[in-house]
Amino acid sequence: MKRIAILGSTGSIGTQALDVVAANPNLFQVEVLSAHSNSALLIEQARKFTPNAVVVTDEARYATVKDALQGTPTKVLSGSSALDEVVQWETVDVVLGAIVGFAGLRSTLAAINAGKRIALANKETLVVAGELVMRLAAEKHAEIIPVDSEHSAIFQCLVGENPANVDKVILTASGGPFLGRKSNYLVNVKASHALQHPNWTMGAKITIDSATLMNKGLEMIEAKWLFGLKDEQIDVIVHPQSIIHSMVQFNDGSVKSQMGLPDMKLPIQYAMAYPQRIANPYKRLDFREQSKLTFEQADYKTFRNLALAREAMERAGNAPCVLNAANEVLVHAFLQNKVGFLEMSDMIEKTLNSVTFIEHPTLEDYQKSDAEAREYAQEYARKSQLSMY
Ligand code: NDP
Ligand code: MG
Repeated sequence: MKRIAILGSTGSIGTQALDVVAANPNLFQVEVLSAHSNSALLIEQARKFTPNAVVVTDEARYATVKDALQGTPTKVLSGSSALDEVVQWETVDVVLGAIVGFAGLRSTLAAINAGKRIALANKETLVVAGELVMRLAAEKHAEIIPVDSEHSAIFQCLVGENPANVDKVILTASGGPFLGRKSNYLVNVKASHALQHPNWTMGAKITIDSATLMNKGLEMIEAKWLFGLKDEQIDVIVHPQSIIHSMVQFNDGSVKSQMGLPDMKLPIQYAMAYPQRIANPYKRLDFREQSKLTFEQADYKTFRNLALAREAMERAGNAPCVLNAANEVLVHAFLQNKVGFLEMSDMIEKTLNSVTFIEHPTLEDYQKSDAEAREYAQEYARKSQLSMY
């Protein structure tokens, strides 16, 4: 029986993780749940799974949650610092990091410091501070098992292999809803359109990142740190069917891939149960129904976020942190129709060129760079013609 803390339990990954728990009551027990502002869903989840504690990070929601769970065995805590505390509890075996954005970094570091097993969905944590996170994890013997489907695929391909024999990893990308489109079309697309992903149902931020290909850019950086790769060992290929979740090419030319129907519950349960596999009744991949698996070169010229992410990865230091912060601000603005689709790349590039470069950042430097980048990006967003700030 594994006791789990699910940070970000009200999100797309968090709710699917709870589906996995509900389907496997003999394997998992919920110890902690956390949400930011969706108090109604957090309360409902607490009533169903009776965790030892819930954390509502938005302090304004504390009273509502506290009142609703009065008389239940569940403790109610509030604020980001409460997350740092609960992940250290002895009663927690696995921490599922499913908070979105830079906001997930602090609790991931706290879980690492406590030497916990971490099932990590929050890719921004590794994009922002991957070097620091992986160094600390090695020092504290904290295992990080990826939840992101591409990284779960690579992780699964590497089981039983010597990492020294890896030539390169090949991240697959669906291409998102605008695959094949050019700038003259993209200039006018709106959030409602970009939110229609062809293969996956996910939170709003990652869905926009998938449409701009920033998601694949962030995943390159995530892979670099998770698997200790050099920049030139990371390749991206567009594979619109999302059946091959990613691949590893070895030094003898052999390529391993991991495949399956696109369903995030599979990498979630793999990370939660590793090294076990959990049998389930989900629909199987039937190759007779997959008449074609196709591959094509990603369009770095049109989807400039992918090129910018690669550039930030190669620049290293605080550049990926700046890229991530600018992207978070601009995705938020795009979702409110305050900046255009293509403008996001222009403004990310400007932010990358505005924030002071730091080659070997400390945690404090990352926090400062994140704040500085957000200010620049907000300023650029305000100057957008669409902006109503
Ligand atoms: P959602 O937006 O659906 O959920 C985000 C969760 O984080 C919610 O529980 C939300 O709480 C909480 N949260 C938001 N802001 C804060 C904050 N400032 N402090 C604390 N908690 C906060 O996101 P997803 O589930 O889609 O994604 C989560 C992470 O997993 C992301 O990093 C994403 O890149 C990654 N990922 C997601 C995939 C997917 O299929 N969805 C696939 C691969 C990776 P509340 O609901 O109360 O606002
Ligand atoms: Mg992914």
